[in-house]
Amino acid sequence: RENILELKNVVYSFHTYGGEVKAVRDVSYEVRQGEILGIVGESGCGKSVTAQCILRLNPEPPGFFEGGEILYKGQDVLKMSKKEIRKIRGREIGFVFQDPMTSLNPTMRVGAQIEEVFLGRTDVSKKEVKERAMDIMRLVGISDVEKRYKQYPHELSGGMKQRVMIAIALVSRPSVIICDEPTTSLDVTIEAQILDLLLELREKLGTSIIMITHDLGVISRLCDRVVVMYGGKIVEKGEIGEIFYNTAHPYTKGLMQSIAKLDTAKGEKLKPIEGTPPDLFAPPKGCPFAARCEYCMDVCEQLPPEAYTVADDHTTFCWLQHEMAPETDLKKATAK
Ligand code: SF4
Ligand code: MG
Repeated sequence: RENILELKNVVYSFHTYGGEVKAVRDVSYEVRQGEILGIVGESGCGKSVTAQCILRLNPEPPGFFEGGEILYKGQDVLKMSKKEIRKIRGREIGFVFQDPMTSLNPTMRVGAQIEEVFLGRTDVSKKEVKERAMDIMRLVGISDVEKRYKQYPHELSGGMKQRVMIAIALVSRPSVIICDEPTTSLDVTIEAQILDLLLELREKLGTSIIMITHDLGVISRLCDRVVVMYGGKIVEKGEIGEIFYNTAHPYTKGLMQSIAKLDTAKGEKLKPIEGTPPDLFAPPKGCPFAARCEYCMDVCEQLPPEAYTVADDHTTFCWLQHEMAPETDLKKATAK
């Protein structure tokens, strides 16, 4: 499948009163046509900031790019004018955030809000707009559309509000939708319904989806490929089966172990990864995970790990894959 979006060595920082925060440190990943790509990591790992960079949503300044390219259909978003970016933002690349209440207007009826987006982003005529708005509500599984249309956001449940947000994101039939923790505030049953809806929409419309989450359960249910981030960097990425069943990075392994008890159901204790993430004001010069890694070697604190190809679609950044590293359960790469 073709790449619709490509991040290449993106370095993004921002100025604060406390100094410069190195939020995104040399991040590269690609999103293929019609795939669901998961971005997983703890809060503060840079997963959201990186995705916001794609649409230049972070204020610049205080934010600034120190390097890299973000290619959308081959065009570098970092070189675009504000006007060019507005043509893409929301129209070709949509987004859905965790809290629909911050994105929906509480004083406007749901139907009118969707209509407004249609009129702003497409050339649908005023005569047709109501019908089109209702169609898109049906598409995202909203039942009783006539009634919902006239309601205000506060009259809808959390799951229903998130469906409205997804409908709004779909208005201009974007090629990519960025979803940032869209189900985190929902209960598990409703979360499952929203994830099923996203799968269905990808199937029907061929939309590529970037799913940002701290939850590996969401990743396993939804994604074709995964990017694991830690301390502003990518530590491992690849095809979902590779990441889950051929895990090569100690941090990913830690994430897996912290959810493993869900399968065993033996009341086995969740094993959190000990320690805290690195200080992004002064990121470690070697591996970002060194301070918390049970496998840490001298080299890890000195030099950032190189990329190792574990399989066709599986890369890890960890010195354990080096030919001179000791044999461990994680050593998989055969060639550099
Ligand atoms: Fe651990 Fe070293 Fe690998 Fe980093 S490079 S994850 S510190 S073994
Ligand atoms: Mg976030």
